[in-house]
Amino acid sequence: MHKASTIREDGLYHSFCGLVSVGWLYQKIKDSFFLILGTHTCAHLLQNTLGVMIFARPRFAVSLLEESDLSSSQPDISAQIEEIKREHHPSVIFLLSSCTPEVMKVEFEGLAASVSTPEVPVLFVPASGLDYTFSQSEDSVLQALIPFCPPAPPEDKRVVFLGSVNDAIADDFSLEAARLGIPVAGFLPASHFHELPPIGPGTIVAPLQPYLHKTATQLRNERGCTILSSLFPLGPDGTRRFWEDLAAHFDIKVDLSDREAAAWERIKRHTDLLRGKKIFFASDTLMELPLARFLKACGAEVVECSTPYINRRFHAAELAALEGVRLVEQANFHRQLQTIAETKPDLIISNIITTNPLVGQGTVAKWGTEYCFLPIHGWAGVNALVTSFTRALERHAKLDPLGS
Ligand code: SF4
Repeated sequence: MHKASTIREDGLYHSFCGLVSVGWLYQKIKDSFFLILGTHTCAHLLQNTLGVMIFARPRFAVSLLEESDLSSSQPDISAQIEEIKREHHPSVIFLLSSCTPEVMKVEFEGLAASVSTPEVPVLFVPASGLDYTFSQSEDSVLQALIPFCPPAPPEDKRVVFLGSVNDAIADDFSLEAARLGIPVAGFLPASHFHELPPIGPGTIVAPLQPYLHKTATQLRNERGCTILSSLFPLGPDGTRRFWEDLAAHFDIKVDLSDREAAAWERIKRHTDLLRGKKIFFASDTLMELPLARFLKACGAEVVECSTPYINRRFHAAELAALEGVRLVEQANFHRQLQTIAETKPDLIISNIITTNPLVGQGTVAKWGTEYCFLPIHGWAGVNALVTSFTRALERHAKLDPLGS
């Protein structure tokens, strides 16, 4: 396999706190509760980013650290845990760390164990904005769930799809697997805590999201399962490769070239618009590699693909497909501004800090964060994926018809 060369710079690892992953995970794991041990800052972040009102009774909360707590290194959360059980009846509670208690050296494993019961486990999830991009916190949640996946015997050869996608996209993956004759053990995460899939040496784990390398590595090491090495199922090219490579693990030979061609044909109006356009990735979701690969397949010129972190093994197929593209880890923003000034990209996918200033400078910039929320996976997600890029270009063309 060819290897794309990457450049490592000295910029920010990420711009958005890992606690935000709660926003999609509490909706995905429907009998869960997320308790964050944090400060008023964390509470404001969640309130503002997730737009939740008190009377909506969301299944997440912040246990607020006050000044008096700073004198004790091990807070007591037993009263909050009892209240959560009484009010929400969850099957599992995730206890998320945040910056301040990590600085205070709170021993989270012990804190979670002290309030955990066999009936309602309380699982520690490292998620602080100090260490993780906001998408990587899902990786921590899924790692915490691994011990609760039943063991599977070696002869149980089925696929487990790894990564949260919305229910409609999950149904699409189940139906497609059935159509191709691929047996499915389930999804990690499942919609309910007690429906976690069995995983063992015969399991093929098929990652749907590019930010889950820690869970994939732990599953390989602890359960002896096989991790599918393929493109992530984004776009017609990625989706075809994903299913063909997965089917091959089950000795099923499929040729999805007609399916891929039909998907490209359906989005031709959009690929015509993207062809030759210069696209610059300066975002921090860890979705950047497959998105850039898809745009390259659309005929766009990816001027630069910056991303916080690249895992040579987990991202191997994407790296091979991106050969020739400038790949940068932890990009230096000042250098990026120079490159943007020199190359004049038509569209910049950027992060929460830089999008508005870039728009203010007259560039077409789009917030990359939304790719973690959009239903863009598999055949069913192709239209949402391509239009997310072309809508930004078309909107700008309408606002600025003379291209000034
Ligand atoms: Fe901010 Fe840290 Fe709290 Fe995240 S965990 S909201 S980065 S203080």
